[in-house]
Amino acid sequence: MKSKNIFESTMHFLVHNSFLFTIAIMGLVHLTLLAVMAYAKVMPLFYFNILSVVVYLFCIILCKMGQILPVYFSLIIEVAIYAATSVYFIGWDSGAYCFLISIVPIIIYFGCFIFERGKRWIIVIMLLVDFSVFTYLYLMYVNAEAVYHVSGAIRTFLFVFTSFVMTFSVIFYNVIYIYSSESAVLSLERKNEQLALDATEDVLTGLLNRRGFLPIVDGFMKDKTKNNFCIAFLDIDNFKRINDSYGHDCGDEVLRHIARIIKKEVPGCDICRWGGEEITILLEKHDFKRAIDKMEYLRKLIEMTPTVFFNKRIPVTVTIGLETYLDSYTDPESIIKTADKRMYFGKQHGKNILVYEDLY
Ligand code: GH3
Ligand code: MG
Ligand code: MG
Repeated sequence: MKSKNIFESTMHFLVHNSFLFTIAIMGLVHLTLLAVMAYAKVMPLFYFNILSVVVYLFCIILCKMGQILPVYFSLIIEVAIYAATSVYFIGWDSGAYCFLISIVPIIIYFGCFIFERGKRWIIVIMLLVDFSVFTYLYLMYVNAEAVYHVSGAIRTFLFVFTSFVMTFSVIFYNVIYIYSSESAVLSLERKNEQLALDATEDVLTGLLNRRGFLPIVDGFMKDKTKNNFCIAFLDIDNFKRINDSYGHDCGDEVLRHIARIIKKEVPGCDICRWGGEEITILLEKHDFKRAIDKMEYLRKLIEMTPTVFFNKRIPVTVTIGLETYLDSYTDPESIIKTADKRMYFGKQHGKNILVYEDLY
């Protein structure tokens, strides 16, 4: 767990400081080359490396100031000139051309970060420049005599070093690219989950969900002028069988169909998709007698109105539990629970009925 956190925070740091990190690495590469060239007494490249280190120090300052664009171009130009100068002075097989390959992922990764979609042709131009320099150097210097003859050991070191820089670059920018895209997907998923939690409406039926419904019931309970209301708890009978026989899409259509019927029959009332195939209704301005009549009518109406799904008529029935608001109820859940228990009693005693008393 701890090592995962260290990995996560390292990756997070690298992704958010990748430009600065790249410049620092470039500076270190030139510091190493500076020492090698001093040892090999290749003075033009020694001075060039001093200049490169100064350029990268300056780039760090520019980066801190948020001036990323000049840094991007300086980096590409510096690498191209350094590779050309190196190949000229110490020969093609010193491996300096590897730097031109090393900057390909850098050109693409930072280019996509800096340039918006309409300007990404600049990246293509940069890649073409890089490729042209590479080809030109190959054609001109692959068999040419180097100005300086460095020892075999130094030549081997330079080749291994530049190959390492090239491999590191390809791996590093791929890894941080994958990591940052995965992080973006993860953060979108988290936002979606949060949006779903914040939502108060059920997407399938357009009814309220519990989050939207409960505060409304609470408001009715607290308002003395409004607490003449009842709560109905409705559950579709044998709904699983509908899914199993006609498919899940048909089940969804049955849910939408029942929701439409209820909305039409109790206009203005708050209706909630409580769970899978359970619906609760707040029958406002309904005394118990009126609510019983309305729910008995609704039960019969649903029984007589089958869902039409691809020319098939699917009969559906519902079991309803009903309770009226009483002062003894102190929270919305308790009154809903009573209605639910009555519905459950109805399920155990034949289904397709309305239960409005404690018969259990
Ligand atoms: P009972 O008469 O006792 O209520 O039986 P039932 O089959 O209606 O109840 P059960 O609890 O056994 O099954 C409910 C089913 O509802 C299981 C679940 O797959 C299905 N379901 C829940 N939500 C949805 C949904 O959004 N769409 C569809 N199509 N099915 C759903
Ligand atoms: Mg059911
Ligand atoms: Mg159920």
